[in-house]
Amino acid sequence: MQQWQIEILRCPFDRARLDVKEEQMQCVECQRTFPVVGGVPSFVLPDLATAHEREEWLRKQSEIQARDMQASQYDHLLGLVLMSPVEARMTLRALRGKAGQFAALAEIGCGTGRMLRHFAALADFVIGVDFSLQSLQLCRQRMQQAGILEKVMLIHADACFLPLADEMLDAVASCQLVEHLPSDRLRRQVLAEMARVLKAGGRYAVSGYHWSWLTRWSGAKQGMHQGGIYYYRFTRNEFYELVSAHLPVESLRSVLGYVWLASGSKEA
Ligand SMILES: [Zn+2]
Repeated sequence: MQQWQIEILRCPFDRARLDVKEEQMQCVECQRTFPVVGGVPSFVLPDLATAHEREEWLRKQSEIQARDMQASQYDHLLGLVLMSPVEARMTLRALRGKAGQFAALAEIGCGTGRMLRHFAALADFVIGVDFSLQSLQLCRQRMQQAGILEKVMLIHADACFLPLADEMLDAVASCQLVEHLPSDRLRRQVLAEMARVLKAGGRYAVSGYHWSWLTRWSGAKQGMHQGGIYYYRFTRNEFYELVSAHLPVESLRSVLGYVWLASGSKEA
């Protein structure tokens, strides 16, 4: 494990520092141990259940299972194949703002790396967080093939309990993650976590399902995707309110009527 990686990792339960050993990390406070699985430090422990309502926890477990199972097909979903080039271009522009190159950037909910490979061009060090270990293993292969694994750290963690230190990142992004959090409380917690790990003046971009004429035609405001993945579609006001409760919204626009994209800088 490289020095910059050790510097930024924290226990997700109490945010204390971690002692790095061969195949695991240990919290210096609570003494919990976290394994490193195939190069990926793993912070998704059963203990996290106690910080959730029963229904929230069950829905999260159902999504983890579905994401693990669907990981190898994810990048071939037709909607994503069609939308990804436009989404990537808009998200990168929104995230960058007037900033140049970032030192450290994290994507929360990186999945198999659909967007992470684009973000990697913007920063010296890149962190990808996801709670599907299968997706992360595919993401790791993809980063290796792209020749950028050296500057990428993938972390198996829950987006509501980021194992990252306060205010160490210059940029944080999250693409189509927040709509899958199974309660309003957890959606807010993800935004609070993103704001916490971002430096003052750091840039963010966050996207989530748009409840638009297009998506009205093809589905419900909230429900379940195939395989047991919960989703919620936001009105403009709902999305604005969710993000602006934690981070100042400079720009809020729709990407093809499919997702909202909010961006801005944390107060300096
Ligand atoms: Zn701890």
